Amino acid sequence: MTNSFHPPQRTLMGPGPSDVSPRVLEALGRPTIGHLDPAFVDLMDDIKGLLQYAFQTENALTLPISAPGSAGMEAAFVNLVSPGDKVIVCQNGVFGGRMKENVERCGATAIMVEDTWGTAIDLNKVKEAFTANPDAKVLAFVHAETSTGVESDAKALCALARENNALTIVDAVTSLGGIPLLVDAWGADAVYSGSQKCLSCVPGISPVTFSQRAVDTINARNTKVQSWFLDMQLVMGYWGGNSKRAYHHTAPVNAMYALHESLVALKEEGLENAWARHSKHHAALVAGLEAMGLDMLVAKEHRLPQLNLVAIPDGVDDAAVRSALLADYNLEIGAGLGDLAGKAWRIGLMGHAASKQNVLLCLSALDNILS
Ligand code: PLP
Repeated sequence: MTNSFHPPQRTLMGPGPSDVSPRVLEALGRPTIGHLDPAFVDLMDDIKGLLQYAFQTENALTLPISAPGSAGMEAAFVNLVSPGDKVIVCQNGVFGGRMKENVERCGATAIMVEDTWGTAIDLNKVKEAFTANPDAKVLAFVHAETSTGVESDAKALCALARENNALTIVDAVTSLGGIPLLVDAWGADAVYSGSQKCLSCVPGISPVTFSQRAVDTINARNTKVQSWFLDMQLVMGYWGGNSKRAYHHTAPVNAMYALHESLVALKEEGLENAWARHSKHHAALVAGLEAMGLDMLVAKEHRLPQLNLVAIPDGVDDAAVRSALLADYNLEIGAGLGDLAGKAWRIGLMGHAASKQNVLLCLSALDNILS
């Protein structure tokens, strides 16, 4: 016989998952019903409407994919990219590299636009890539690079793609709910996110939205989407706008209750207020870290409030500090990734975790360990 698992009570201030609020955890524990039960179908409609609010879009094809953010990324690529296409991919951290992988697995060519990790995507380089590749069909980029804590100018990048008749694939896994993301106003075409960052829901769901231009592209495909599970034409039949729902897969019913609750909480707070809360606690965290003599790694104008990159001071043992935070304070912060491994800590202030208590806990715990 094995024992039940009781996780430790942590405070999650890493790159995600973030703290899940008690009201969302409570929703998760409500009775499971059938995924074609009329009450669940009503819930699906509600979730779609709330996601349209969160993404600031009227796109009819807006829904949560029953799998993590990586599945949202894959759904965008496999549906919009066909063999032989050219895709301009911006890379300024880990996740742009994954986009390249996706493009190549679709049988397409990735034109890479590379920027130094820790800096934003350079618009001039993207312009040059379009000049050299006027036939590029898609521009793909990460709005909020979780590996480096950098925000890129999604509005300008979407405008550039439109000028060049290209669709956009936008990774908004870490941006949704934390910083402004205006899908319709910016004219973004395929945008995907994750439940476990600034929505503060349990991990494992990927909200996505596709513009009419993107839907037209999907409908005009003359090759089958290579992924059956992520073929949006099939997923649409399950989550689609009409009252008849065709069975496609069994939705993670309880996780959808949790997502719904987290979206209701976001709507109650109001998007602008949620963005302002992230920004306010970020300012307090940075002021406290700098007062302790620590340096931020990203230039002020490109910093993500929800993910703070702090330089590890010379002579300080990265892993020992993170272990002490976990063991002595039940506090999780993130290690640096890729080029920034061993050089930076990633301190998240995502969703429910963007709070005064968390800022104070993190500052006092770090101060005690480092002094
Ligand atoms: N894109 C970005 C920017 C991310 O931060 C992440 C996860 O951290 C992903 C994609 C992948 O999401 P998931 O881990 O939910 O599959």
